[in-house]
Amino acid sequence: MKSPAPRSPGCGAGPCFRRWLAPATALSLLAIFCWSIAWGQSASPRAESRPAVENSLDSPAIEARVNELLAKMTLEEKIGQLVQYSAGQATGPGSGRTDDRDMIRKGQVGSLFNVTGARATNQLQHIAVDESRLHIPLIFGLDVIHGFRTTFPLNLGLAATWDPALVEKAARISATEASAAGVRWAFSPMVDIARDARWGRISEGSGEDPFLGAAMARAYVRGYQGEHLSAPDSIAACAKHYVGYGAAEAGREYNSTEISEHTLRQYYLPPFQAAAEAGVATFMSAFNALNGIPTSANPFTLKQILRKEWGFRGIVVSDWNSVAEIMAHGIAIDDATAARKAFLAGVDMDMVSNLYHQNMQQLVESGKVPESEIDEAVRRILRVKFALGLFDHPYSDEDREARAMLRPESVAVARAAATRSLVLLRNENVSGTPILPLSSKLSSIALLGPLADDAGQMLGSWGGLGRSEDAVSLRRALTERLGDARIRYAKGTGFLTGSDGEISEAVSAAEKSDVVLLALGEDAPNMTGEAASRARLGLPGRQQELLEKVVATGKPVVLILFSGRPLTLPWAFDHVPAVLAAWYPGVAAGPAVGDVLFGDAAPSGHLPLSWPRSVGQEPLYYNALNTGRPAADPDRPPQKGETKYLSRYIDEPNTPQFPFGFGLTYTSFRYGATQVTTAQLSAAALEQQLDARGDRARVVRVSADITNTGSRAGETVAQLYVRLDGTSIAMPVRMLKGFQSVALASGETRKVTFDLDALTFAFWGADNTFAVEPARVTLWIAANSAEGEPVKLTIAP
Ligand code: BGC
Repeated sequence: MKSPAPRSPGCGAGPCFRRWLAPATALSLLAIFCWSIAWGQSASPRAESRPAVENSLDSPAIEARVNELLAKMTLEEKIGQLVQYSAGQATGPGSGRTDDRDMIRKGQVGSLFNVTGARATNQLQHIAVDESRLHIPLIFGLDVIHGFRTTFPLNLGLAATWDPALVEKAARISATEASAAGVRWAFSPMVDIARDARWGRISEGSGEDPFLGAAMARAYVRGYQGEHLSAPDSIAACAKHYVGYGAAEAGREYNSTEISEHTLRQYYLPPFQAAAEAGVATFMSAFNALNGIPTSANPFTLKQILRKEWGFRGIVVSDWNSVAEIMAHGIAIDDATAARKAFLAGVDMDMVSNLYHQNMQQLVESGKVPESEIDEAVRRILRVKFALGLFDHPYSDEDREARAMLRPESVAVARAAATRSLVLLRNENVSGTPILPLSSKLSSIALLGPLADDAGQMLGSWGGLGRSEDAVSLRRALTERLGDARIRYAKGTGFLTGSDGEISEAVSAAEKSDVVLLALGEDAPNMTGEAASRARLGLPGRQQELLEKVVATGKPVVLILFSGRPLTLPWAFDHVPAVLAAWYPGVAAGPAVGDVLFGDAAPSGHLPLSWPRSVGQEPLYYNALNTGRPAADPDRPPQKGETKYLSRYIDEPNTPQFPFGFGLTYTSFRYGATQVTTAQLSAAALEQQLDARGDRARVVRVSADITNTGSRAGETVAQLYVRLDGTSIAMPVRMLKGFQSVALASGETRKVTFDLDALTFAFWGADNTFAVEPARVTLWIAANSAEGEPVKLTIAP
C-alpha cells in the first residue's frame, strides 16, 4: 500500500516534507512558494498509517497470472474489461442495444451489476467463462449498502452506534449473504463526509467527522472483504464517492464542490485513506465537480493522491454514467473526449455510460490513449478478479444461497445494531420521573403516526434485497410485547397527504390513552438518500400539526423520529418530553425500539453529526474554525448593550440543537477533569515517531474519572477531543481523536485512559504536508463535543 513519498516538481532534489514550523529562512519561504504553486503535488508520507488486512492486491503470484493473461488479450478484449453495465440495461443509456449476452460472449463486458441470485449470476458467468475466448469471469456488483437480505440500520444509524466492531459484523453478514447470491462486489462503504443535512445522502455515510468516519470505513472494509478476499464469502468493497461529493454546495444533490487542498486532506480524505489502508479493493469516483474538475476526470485525486501517494492497486469504477456526465459538467463536448478524459484521469471502469465501449478502440488507434495505460487499467481489474478467486471458483453455490439469508444469528446482530443505533435526544420528567423507560404495566398506549406500522419504511432508502415482510414494525413488536388490547393505533396522517378526520381519530386515541408514542419522520424512499435533498428540514406534510394537537391533549408523548437526517424541530424539542432518533433501524426495527422504550435495553447511540436548530445554520459541524470574532456565548443571540460584531446570527444561536457526540441514556454520568501524564511534548520527537512508520508508541496518556451518577447501570461513549493553537494554519475548535465505550454500574467510578501517539497531533499544515508543529494543545475527555473539563499541554519545537 505504501508508496515512497512523492516529490513536488520544482522543489529541487530533496524530499519536500515540511517538518515543524521551521524558521522563516529564505530557503523555507522558497520551499513554501514551491508547494503553494504546485497545488496538488504535495506529499502524503505517512498519514494515518494503520495495520492493514492481508492485501492480495500486492501478491506476486497474482501479478504473474495477470501478466500472463494480459499478454494473450486483444485490444478489444482489454477494453471489454473496462466496461460495466447494469444487467438488463446493457450497453447504456440511449444506445438502444440490449445484447448483453452477446457482448459477454465476445469479451466486451468486464462487470455487471443489479443481477442477483446464484442461478442468474451463474448463467451469465457460464457465458463469460465457457463461451468467451479467454474465459475471463465477470464480477457481479450491487449496492449492498446496509445489508443484503438482512437489513441493518441505515448507515447513519450504524455510525450512531460508535461501535466499529458491530459495524464490521454487519458488513460480514452482508458479505456472506451477497456472495451466496453471486454478488462479489459491494458498492459500499460510502465514506463521504457530510456536513449538511439538506443533502439526502447524509443518510448513507457515517456523518461529519473524519476520525469516526475512518473508523467506520475500516470496519466496513474488513467486514465485507473478510480475512481473505479469495474466500467464497468475501466480497470486494468499494470506497465511494471519491471525493467531496458530500460537500455539495447548498446541500443540493449532485451540486459542485469547492474544497481547498488543506480541507480536502484534513477532513474529506481520511476515511478514504483509511479504507485504502484497510485494503479496500475498489474505489468509485463521484458525480460532483471538485474545484471545477469533475471527480470522474480528476487526475489530482485519482492519480496523484489515490495511486501515487496511497499506492492503491485496485479498481476505480465511475459512478453511474458519470463518464458521460463530464460533458454536462462542461469539460468535454463529445463522447470520445469524455471517455479519454475520464480514463486518462484514472477511471478504470465505465459504469453504464457505454463511452469506453464505443470510443476506446479508436482513441487507442489514433494515439490519444496509450495502450500501456489500457494495460494498466486491465491489470487492476484482473488483479481484483484473481484476488477474489473468480478464475478458480467463478460460480456460486446455489445450496449455500438458500441457507445464507436472514439467518437467526444475522437477525440477532441486526437487532443489536438497531438497538445501539437509537439516540435518545430528550427525556424530561413527567410527574417527577423521566418519561422513559415506560412501565410495561401501562394499561393503554396510543401508537400514532405514518411510521408506526409501515415495515417497509424501516428498511430505509437502500434496502438491498430486503423485503418489507422481513421487517418488524413498531406496531407489530408492541402488539407482540403487550397484546392487542393495550394498543390504540391510528395512522394520523400520511407523509404528504392527511385529512382532518385522520388527525381527529389520532387525537382521540391519544385522549383515551395513558401515554402516546408518535412515530413521525420522513418517507424513506422518497425523502432520504440519493436525489432527495431538502431545503426544509421539518416534518413533511401535516405531521407537525398532528404532533402539536397530540401534545395539546396533555398526555405524555414520546416522539420516535424515523429519518435519514436530523430534522429541525425546535417546537418538539421544547414541548415533547421524550424524543428518540431512530433513523431507519432495519429488519429488527420494532423489537429494538420496543426494547429501548420499555427499558429492556438502555439507549446507547450518540450523534455522528451536529443536529441543527434551523436550516439556516447549515452546513453545521462541530470541527469548525474559531474565526477571528468568535461569539462569546454561542448559545444565545447578542443581548442589548453587547457588541454586535461577532460571528453569530442575530436570530439564532450558533450552537446546534444537539452537539456531535451527544446521546442520553437511562442513567447519568459525571466526567471529571481531563488529566495528562506530561505537560510538554517535543515536536521533533513526535516527528521522528511519525517517520518511523508503524511506531504507534504512546507519547502521552490522557485520562479522566467517569462516574455513573444515576440509579441504573449504563454505558457512555467517552470521547477524546484535541485542539491545536499556534499552528501554521487554523485548526478546528475541537477534533475527535479517540473514543471508547464505558459501561458502569450505578455509583461506579472508573478512570478512562487514552494513550495518544504522534499521529494524534499531526495534521495537514499551511503548505499541505502532514506533520507535527509546535503548538498549544487543549484536550478534553467528554461525553460529547460541547462538554468536558479541558487540560492543556505544549508541543515545544
Ligand atoms: C449512486 C452510487 C451507486 C450507483 C450504482 C449511483 O446513482 O450514486 O452510489 O453505487 O448508482 O447503483
